[in-house]
Parts: sequence; structure tokens; C-alpha cells
Amino acid sequence: MKQTLTILGATGSIGVNTLDVIARHPEKFEVFALAGHRQVNKLAEQCRTFRPKFAVVADEACAQELNACLKASNTATEVLFGQQALIDVATAEEVTGVMAAIVGAAGLPPTLAAAEKGKTIYLANKETLVVSGALFMETAAKSGAKVLPIDSEHNAIYQVLPEHYTDNPHEHGIQSIILTASGGPFLETDLNTFDNITPAQAIKHPNWSMGKKISVDSASMMNKGLELIEAHWLFRCPPEKLEVVIHPQSVIHSMVRYLDGSVLAQMGTPDMRTPIAYCLGLPIRIDAGVKPLDFNTLNGLTFKTPDFNRFPCLKLAYQAMQACGNAPCVLNAANEIAVDAFLAEKIRFTDIARVVAHCLEQNFSNDGKSLESLLAQDTQTRAEATQFIAAMSR
Ligand code: NAD
Ligand code: MG
Repeated sequence: MKQTLTILGATGSIGVNTLDVIARHPEKFEVFALAGHRQVNKLAEQCRTFRPKFAVVADEACAQELNACLKASNTATEVLFGQQALIDVATAEEVTGVMAAIVGAAGLPPTLAAAEKGKTIYLANKETLVVSGALFMETAAKSGAKVLPIDSEHNAIYQVLPEHYTDNPHEHGIQSIILTASGGPFLETDLNTFDNITPAQAIKHPNWSMGKKISVDSASMMNKGLELIEAHWLFRCPPEKLEVVIHPQSVIHSMVRYLDGSVLAQMGTPDMRTPIAYCLGLPIRIDAGVKPLDFNTLNGLTFKTPDFNRFPCLKLAYQAMQACGNAPCVLNAANEIAVDAFLAEKIRFTDIARVVAHCLEQNFSNDGKSLESLLAQDTQTRAEATQFIAAMSR
């Protein structure tokens, strides 16, 4: 039976890679809806190719623009706009699976709504788990929604966990889960020059081609911090059983260490089409168009322990994970505001950690169990971070 998919964040890096995999298997997948926020031209082109029933954009102006493009090419896709439309296309009856690939906490409401309806969730939007891990996993468990990890590390872990793994690492003979990290572009950069790092340098990832926000997060290693929290919820793994190892070649995508001394790793050319195809193809493996890993040209695999002095954001994320409650939501909101400000050249690279640390030092409640209360925390922290940044630049 064909899968009917909604792709949230279709115009982004994960969205485009997803459509590339789908296009290789037209007999397996059909596209129900594509959501592309403000990237109207790119979305119009995708609609012409994939002929979805619906396309969703940010607002009425974008919708008019998209409608005009589609009319000119005789494409019969219906155009919707706004937050509710994202929820509608993620929860529609016909939809079997939702690729959650919006960037940031903006992806949370439609992803959670899809989980409530029991859709298969292809989860790229790690911020959903960071902001609302407990709520999201509970919601999915209640509805029976399958949550399949697209993030390459979590996908690797998923692939090497025991087949019937549920939620107790010790019961399955697991010693720890090891997330690998590339260390980003500044792994060897002189720490004294960190204040001068530019956005262009920060988004130039050595191994992966990704959206701007996650590229900056990789450079600060906040990305690995968010991924620790993501793994904590996805695999019900206590913080003390999660390790991070820097592996600059990004060939091993993560590992599981077992009590008998075995370490199982998943390897491959760094290309997001592998985890995407793995999840879309389950239970069988399908072609992803990925270049085979060439052992003849690999110049060795190296490993290193992360240095919190160089990567203070990673330490902050560890602390937020241990504090639990609303702390990860605060961490994420502060980081989103700080990364935006850094990309707009309003603050320095090193200020990102300062903004996040400042927000984590504020008093916040720990009762974020509903979507409303988490979104209120998110809004409150964004305001705090914005104010702190304004005061910084005065
Ligand atoms: P991207 O910036 O390339 O794309 C983001 C997508 O979200 C675009 O389609 C954009 O139009 C849409 N979008 C942006 N703001 C929106 C909003 N407010 N409301 C609705 N839609 C909005 O990002 P990406 O690199 O594709 O990453 C997407 C998600 O996947 C992120 O959560 C990221 O952490 C995660 N992820 C990405 C990669 C990767 O290799 N790119 C790997 C692992 C996880
Ligand atoms: Mg990742």
C-alpha cells in the first residue's frame, strides 16, 4: 500500500532531501501536502513536480503569490496558510505519515497534533522533543503513533538498538548510548579568535549541508546538546547513560555500548538521505541515492573528548537536561533568539552561550506539562533573551 505523506518544512534541507528519496520510489509514496512557509518559488516548483493536494504557506500574502505561480503552470494544488493549516494537513484522515522538518519550536504544534492522531512521525524537528519531550512521547504512546528518528545520530542508535527495545536500557544490556559529534568548523580554531567568528564561517559545516540554524548550533555544539535531550526522551535513556564523543569525519553516526563490551555503530557517507530512506522504507531498506562509503579513501577515524571551555553550550544543555522540567524549553528558546541575533550580526558567536546561560539563571516554573504552558514558557524566554541582547548591544 502507498504511504500518503505530509511534509512540513518541505523547502528546507531535510524537506528537499525527503522529496529526493520520494521521487526515487513513486510506487511507494504519494505527497498529500507540502508546507514551505515563505519560500514560495521553491514550493511552487515542488508542487509542479509532486502534485500535492495542499500546499501551506505562512500568510495570506504568500498564499496569493503561490496561487499566482500555480495558476500560471496549471497546477491544481489548493493553497492554505497559517498555523491551523499546518495542523490540518498534518492530521488529515488520508495522511499516514508526517515528515516533521520545520526548524525550531514553530514545528511543535503540528507535530504534536499529528502524534495525537496516531500518524507515523518522521521526526527531524529535534526542538519538538527538547521543548516538550515528556508531553510528546506520552501523546505518541497514548495514540500509538510511531516516532521514527530522522536526526542522523538518533537514526543510527535506532538501527543498532536491540530489536524489541522499549524503554529500559539496563534491561536490554545497554551500558550507554554514544552520540558522535563532528565538532563543527571550530574544533581546532584558536580560542582567542572566537569573538571574531562570522556567521559565514559558522554556517560552513565541514561534513554536512544543512539549514543555517542547525549549522550554527553545530558550530557551538548546542546541536549536540539538543540531541542529548532528544535521545533522553526518544530512548528513555537516563542522562548518566548518554555520552558524547567528537568524531570529526562524521562516518560513524552514533553507537550503543553494551554490558558485554560490544560497541555497535552505524556508519555511512554523511548524507541525510540515508536516515530519511531508512525510516520511510521500514521494514525494508530502499535506495537513497547516497554515495557508498569508500574505505579506500577514508583517512582514518579519530575520536576526541569534547571540551566545555570551547563549547559552553554543550555544558548548558547537559545542565538543562539534568534540571529537566521547563529548563530544556528555556534552553531552546534562548538559543533560537541568540542564533537569530548572531546571524543578523547583532551579537558575537561567544554571546550565544551568554544569552542561554542568562535565561537559564532566571526563575521559571517547572510545570510545563501542557502545550499551552510550554508555549507560554517559550514566549516568556524569547522576551527575556531579546531584552538581554538589546541591553548587551547598548
Ligand atoms: P532549513 O532551515 O533548511 O528548513 C526549515 C524549513 O522550515 C523550511 O521549509 C522553512 O520554510 C520552514 N520554516 C521555517 N520557519 C518556519 C515557521 N515559523 N513555520 C513554519 N515553517 C517554517 O532547516 P533544516 O536544516 O532542514 O532543519 C529542519 C529541522 O530538522 C530542524 O529542526 C533541524 O534541527 C532538523 N535536522 C536537520 C538536519 C539537516 O541535515 N539539515 C539534520 C538533523 C536534524
Ligand atoms: Mg544530528
